[in-house]
Amino acid sequence: MSFKKRLKPLYENPPQRKPKTAKKPKRKRDPFYSSYEWKTLRYEVLKESEGRCTLCGRSRNDFSVDGITKLNLTVDHITSRSVDPIKELDKENCQILCTDCHEAKKVNDNTDFRALG
Ligand SMILES: [Zn+2]
Repeated sequence: MSFKKRLKPLYENPPQRKPKTAKKPKRKRDPFYSSYEWKTLRYEVLKESEGRCTLCGRSRNDFSVDGITKLNLTVDHITSRSVDPIKELDKENCQILCTDCHEAKKVNDNTDFRALG
């Protein structure tokens, strides 16, 4: 077998490159959520919550409604920052919600669940 013939299969079947996948455009992180002021406030609110959702009372050890993922706790702005940015660092405007409750609460819903407990 000649040298060329031995190389031929390689030319016919060049190594396949991975198809380029369309990258999701990265969402710009809101610098507010990485600010020292917010992190400090968030920490205080989480500490005082005893690790439970204000609305449903579940903790990070409980499962989400999908039964697979564990819940996360979020510090929710009762009145959304987009509605009233002045209250974004107001502790009285913050409550702990689990991922399920936080996803269900809409931006314009300013229910204070602490008052319902
Ligand atoms: Zn909840």
